[in-house]
Amino acid sequence: MLPVALASPAVMRAELSRIVGAEHVLDAPPRSAYNHDAARRRGAEGRADAVVLPASAQEVAEVVRWCYAHDVAIVARGGGTGMMGGAVATHGGVVCSMERLRTVRELEPALWRMLPEAGVRTRDVQRLARENGLFFGPDPGAAEQSQIGGNVATNAGGPHALKYGVTGAWVAGLEVVLAPGELVEIGGWAGKDVAGYDLKSLLVGSEGTLGVITAVRLRLLPAPEATVALVVFLRTREDGCAAIGEVLAAGLRPSVLDFLDGDTLAIASGSFPAGADAAARAGMGAGADGGAEGEAGVPAQAGFALIVELDGSHADVREQHRELVRTLTGSALAVVQPRAQELWRWRDGINAAVTGVRGAKISEDVVFPLERLADGLEHFEQAAARHGLRSCAWGHGGEGNVHATVLVDGDSDAELDAAAAVGEELFASVVSRGGSVAGEHGIGWLKRGRLEGQWELRALELHEQLKRAFDPKGLLNPGTKLARYPAPSAG
Ligand SMILES: Cc1cc2nc3c(=O)[nH]c(=O)nc-3n(C[C@H](O)[C@H](O)[C@H](O)COP(=O)(O)OP(=O)(O)OC[C@H]3O[C@@H](n4cnc5c(N)ncnc54)[C@H](O)[C@@H]3O)c2cc1C
Repeated sequence: MLPVALASPAVMRAELSRIVGAEHVLDAPPRSAYNHDAARRRGAEGRADAVVLPASAQEVAEVVRWCYAHDVAIVARGGGTGMMGGAVATHGGVVCSMERLRTVRELEPALWRMLPEAGVRTRDVQRLARENGLFFGPDPGAAEQSQIGGNVATNAGGPHALKYGVTGAWVAGLEVVLAPGELVEIGGWAGKDVAGYDLKSLLVGSEGTLGVITAVRLRLLPAPEATVALVVFLRTREDGCAAIGEVLAAGLRPSVLDFLDGDTLAIASGSFPAGADAAARAGMGAGADGGAEGEAGVPAQAGFALIVELDGSHADVREQHRELVRTLTGSALAVVQPRAQELWRWRDGINAAVTGVRGAKISEDVVFPLERLADGLEHFEQAAARHGLRSCAWGHGGEGNVHATVLVDGDSDAELDAAAAVGEELFASVVSRGGSVAGEHGIGWLKRGRLEGQWELRALELHEQLKRAFDPKGLLNPGTKLARYPAPSAG
């Protein structure tokens, strides 16, 4: 049963004002930013009765307690950059925005750790780590707006997840408000802890459906001494996917091993950083006839590209660089070394460049096992073409994580229907190839029920039982991360 808000919005706002102060309880008209996240164009629309902005973990606990006592749904919200419609109140109720929980409670550079509150922006966590000689690996693309609490709640990834893991790998403990409104510490600074079930990992990636995270114990790493970022151009998808396998089989451990397919390259090649170090092209067997050596820009014959970042000590990076070139000699058209900042700016701009082609795009975050990546990409491209849509794909190749994208006219119902049909074929293909329907963006509201195709029945039932154990009234972000949709009635 979905929750029904028993209190009227006016009563709700008056009661919540007593907890957080009237100026921190907002209305949420339909066009309010709080009723949308990055899935806005895909129909994820909230209808919040109120938005509350608590200032402390204790206030979050009181808000949850009040909502739980009055059968009001509660949706935790970070920076609203989620791509699955998880941060919006699709079933009404209260949006609990964490933007005022901005304190970094502890920062211990010598112990490699930090304890930010949930509302601290991802970029600030990264910057603070860097300023103290440390490194925080997760780097999801909207770091200026996203919050560490949202990153934990979605178990966000990003390019560096290949070597350094997704956000959960950095979490030592959580402070979280659990139903019916209790502030609880889970995990801590113990260097090892195998006592009890791993509740912390259950909460990581739970997308606001099991509790509201108020602070995060993060374990950091010393910053690597040196990094080098390279772009490897290859002729075909098959060459590119084989090269990913060869790099890993050679024992190299790049910090980033991203890919762009030929269609993405074609769209983004015009803005490729021109200041590439031509000397870095030397030594590539295929370069001479690829027409690339010594020229700036994307080689004319390139049909696939890898973005590779190597890090470690200076000597280590030099050796890895040499080994990478050795490994790819014969298959790569060229290896270039743009200035790192320009390269990442170009990479970050791909989303917008792709969207600009037809005014809109629909991108699905999926994962193929590495050995099925080429075949999965080919199947996706064919499915899009069969439905009359142009497509492209890019992502985190080292993990087989693909952002499979179709370009559409957002005002054309026929194209949106075709895109939905391509999506269905894509998810079926991912599952049949042993992959996953979500690599880093979560399930949220848009992919509710998708797990049903991927998991076995008993695992689905456990997923649902865990939800009920944490949230017996079903008030924490209802409608989000449902294993099955429509959800079977609880027996
Ligand atoms: C341009 C762009 C690029 C992106 N690139 C990447 C990428 O490379 N990798 C990647 O993984 N993601 C990426 N994302 C997706 C998004 O940035 C991440 O999912 C991010 O972790 C969401 O954080 P947020 O603070 O914005 O959370 P929100 O969008 O506000 O919320 C996301 C989910 O987490 C829950 N939540 C938020 N805060 C809390 C809390 N304190 N307690 C409990 N639940 C909470 C919400 O209820 C919701 O279900 C990208 C998004 C954009 C717009």
